[in-house]
Amino acid sequence: MTLLAVPICGKDLCEAGSMLSRARESGVDLVELRVDYLDQLSVEIVREYLSMADKNPFKILVTCRDIKEGGAKDWDIDLRTEVLVESVKCGADFIDCEILNFKGKVEKKLRSVLSTHADCRLILSRHSMEGPFKLDRLGRGIELMYDSILAVCPEAIPKLVFRANHVSDCFMAFDVLRDKDSEAIVLCMGDEGVISRVLAKKLDSFITYCSLDDNSATADGQISLDNMKGLFRWDSINKDTDIYGVIGDPVGHSLSPAIFNACFDKKGINAVYLPILTGGFKEGFDEFVNGAVKRANEGWLNFKGFSVTIPHKANALGFAGHEGDYLETPSTAIGAINTLKVGFGGIVQGFNTDYEGAMDALTAAMGCDRHGLHGKKAVVIGAGGVARAVIGGLVHYGSEVTIYNRTESKASSLAEELKCSYKRFNELDKLEADIVINCTSIGMYPNVESSVLDKDVISSDMVVFDTVYNPQETKLLRYAKEAGAKTISGVEMFIRQALAQYRIWLGEADDEVEDIMRKTVYEHLGGGD
Ligand code: NAP
Repeated sequence: MTLLAVPICGKDLCEAGSMLSRARESGVDLVELRVDYLDQLSVEIVREYLSMADKNPFKILVTCRDIKEGGAKDWDIDLRTEVLVESVKCGADFIDCEILNFKGKVEKKLRSVLSTHADCRLILSRHSMEGPFKLDRLGRGIELMYDSILAVCPEAIPKLVFRANHVSDCFMAFDVLRDKDSEAIVLCMGDEGVISRVLAKKLDSFITYCSLDDNSATADGQISLDNMKGLFRWDSINKDTDIYGVIGDPVGHSLSPAIFNACFDKKGINAVYLPILTGGFKEGFDEFVNGAVKRANEGWLNFKGFSVTIPHKANALGFAGHEGDYLETPSTAIGAINTLKVGFGGIVQGFNTDYEGAMDALTAAMGCDRHGLHGKKAVVIGAGGVARAVIGGLVHYGSEVTIYNRTESKASSLAEELKCSYKRFNELDKLEADIVINCTSIGMYPNVESSVLDKDVISSDMVVFDTVYNPQETKLLRYAKEAGAKTISGVEMFIRQALAQYRIWLGEADDEVEDIMRKTVYEHLGGGD
């Protein structure tokens, strides 16, 4: 069982008291009294702190962290030891001491008080603030730390926390949790370590920590309690939970965790969807996906599928194009994929649902099937990743596509590659088209007063599709509506590409799934249909 802990980092007892009251309402299992955050520290103050916390329905951990390992203030080691001793006497369930300080007088005093208070457990911790633990001659890093803590004190709970410089570093934490033969706390700091905080429960880490709110994190990458319980559905996670996620850089803005976790919740699917911040170009992408697929194949870390976003869509194509893996045909022509499915035996399948989403949004609005796109004159503005998917689909179904892009060389090379034509960007005011699709970021929040086309260029017989989805109704779409044209919002493409991903990973997506996705997107973007 994993305890969900909230650090209480008030600078005085008044502030700490109000944080404790909020923690009491929130249903956490444990509060960590971070007494190193107090402006004034004494044994008496800590005694009062403990009596205040004791009225609450959770377990209590007291930590007076050394500044070298992420503590707030440079308190004297003797005072920090006295504070921990007093905490044990006052009924704390756990105390946390750095293994590097657990020697000499400190060790003697803590062992002595713990020997007469069997209900209190000792956590011996080690933090590496810059990156993973250094390796010894035999290539052992974190495993060595784990063994050496238990060698010093077999009854202690080892706590090992290090900064993940790359998301793949989290695998070191996961492997220790898989191999442990006693209780252990293993977590990664930083935005790249977020997945380790959520998956702690699946892998039976003894504790995971989350902040009471967005302003009270005591370590980099700590998730707020609201997000842990609401977005990531902490209470539903168990050892059988399947793992999905969005791989990209950045991923913090992505709506995909919100929509997929909402679907898992309403449909009763034992799965969690995570933001997987993945830097490091192609090598970084390959390292993470290979590590995930290897462990999925071993049957204990069940990664099932990934959405892939900027900057890894072309890298994903290369990955899924390996011998033995599977790639759906249009993705090869488009040159990018945004969906990976991890199948039996570690087979990875690659798909482009941006293309699916765009074609579905377009044909639904036009009231035709994809063959109805044949012979239509389509103008695509932009030559980036989304333009590729849209043009690939349109050309595949026989539309006559003309590309307009600010950087003309990109328009010409994409036109040559995808077998269509291009024109100069400054000739947009003379465009002739049945369908116009904006695949640039013009009009996207916060530049909501920009439009890629002037109003007088749009006529009532056009279909105008803006792939930008924030805001839902861009200035371009307002102009198009005013001109009497049919309009399609990027939200439609976004929802339909997510529905296509859901179908690839989980089978049929019924109307309820679509409704949940739509509702979640509108809740996040504001407004409704
Ligand atoms: P990308 O690969 O970076 O391409 C951006 C495109 O926008 C390029 O063609 C670029 O032209 C053009 N551009 C950017 N700023 C411009 C400006 N000020 N004036 C003229 N052209 C400009 O990005 P992407 O992945 O294709 O994404 C494009 C947009 O699609 C995003 O902004 C997003 O709103 C939308 N999108 C929608 C969905 C959905 O599901 N609805 C999904 C993903 C993205 P240059 O070549 O000259 O730089």
